[in-house]
Amino acid sequence: MAESKKNYYDILGVAKTASQDEIKSAYRKLALKYHPDRNPGDEAAAEKFKEVNEAHTVLSDPEKRKQYDFELEHPGMGGAFSGGNPFSGGFAEGFGDLGDIFSSMFGGGFGRGSARQPSRGANIEQTIRLSFLDAIKGCTKEISYFRNEPCKSCGGTGAKGGTAYQKCAKCGGTGRIKYQQDSIFGRTIQVGVCPDCGGTGRKITEKCPDCKGTGSVRAQTRFTVNIPAGVDSDSSLRKRGYGQAAPNGGEPGDLYLYFQIEPHRLLKRQDKDLYVTVPISFRTAVLGGKIQVPGIDDTHELTVPAGTASGTRFCIRGKGVRTVNGTGNLYVDVQIDIPEKLTREQTKKLEEFESSIPLKSCDNMQRYANNLSALYGKTINKQ
Ligand SMILES: [Zn+2]
Ligand SMILES: [Zn+2]
Repeated sequence: MAESKKNYYDILGVAKTASQDEIKSAYRKLALKYHPDRNPGDEAAAEKFKEVNEAHTVLSDPEKRKQYDFELEHPGMGGAFSGGNPFSGGFAEGFGDLGDIFSSMFGGGFGRGSARQPSRGANIEQTIRLSFLDAIKGCTKEISYFRNEPCKSCGGTGAKGGTAYQKCAKCGGTGRIKYQQDSIFGRTIQVGVCPDCGGTGRKITEKCPDCKGTGSVRAQTRFTVNIPAGVDSDSSLRKRGYGQAAPNGGEPGDLYLYFQIEPHRLLKRQDKDLYVTVPISFRTAVLGGKIQVPGIDDTHELTVPAGTASGTRFCIRGKGVRTVNGTGNLYVDVQIDIPEKLTREQTKKLEEFESSIPLKSCDNMQRYANNLSALYGKTINKQ
């Protein structure tokens, strides 16, 4: 009776323990593969696309994922994810960084509604490793990869000199043919790719010797790319025409560059903001002092005021990552570093020091002692 529950992990093809990065990357691949613009009229692909989005919407949100995991392990409890799709119609959510890729990718004469292509070459994805600071400051990188590139000798036509061909007799050079289809609903006229010329409208009379008539050659492509400052692991760059050559002289695909960013020894990044935890001494926490904080180009000096509690967060404004959307801040959490091994003499000094400070000098502890006394009738001294 009960509708069997969709397994979002299976849909994305990831393990149940997959990290957010793995989920994102699996989603990106599948969403590109099943995107409706790429599969016009293909209902199975549209259904897959919906499923993939649904899975991503849930698994990319830590809260929803937790809830979903729970329900997966406790079937029959009738939670939010049992049967039906609580997010239907809402898969623009979580679609984030893919939006602009699609718009640029499917905007041209490819896909939606256009029926006159020789088909376009496949896209290529490459991942570039960047150091933490290179991603923040921007850099140039040498890119090198193998692809089928359009043959230069024949301009990708496969015909010797790019001219040794004739108009295809079957389709009259249009690359398309009409055919009739009879069914119980009547006769329909369909337009399809010409089987004789594969949609090119050409018949090669003499093959290009360099590519043996295929129009493309396997070759290493190299170039230098300028990576703008502020890219993140969810950014991508597109280089038009650097994907695979198309069969039959169509437009080559594009190259998509993704970034894998190495961690920094001290700094952490979230979008534009940087975070660091800095150990400070007990003395600095009590008396205040200046501390050195790591920054992008150099260290920053930060004044810690007297009486700073462990875990206090300071903000150094404008010292985060500079991006096209503005510059972030550098957040500094201080943590009192507790010495672990004390000599007998140091221990004695510390105890003398502690006993010299009365409870009333310690605001928080005094308040705590008062509350404990009021609630439980217990009297404590310093602890
Ligand atoms: Zn033809
Ligand atoms: Zn050629």
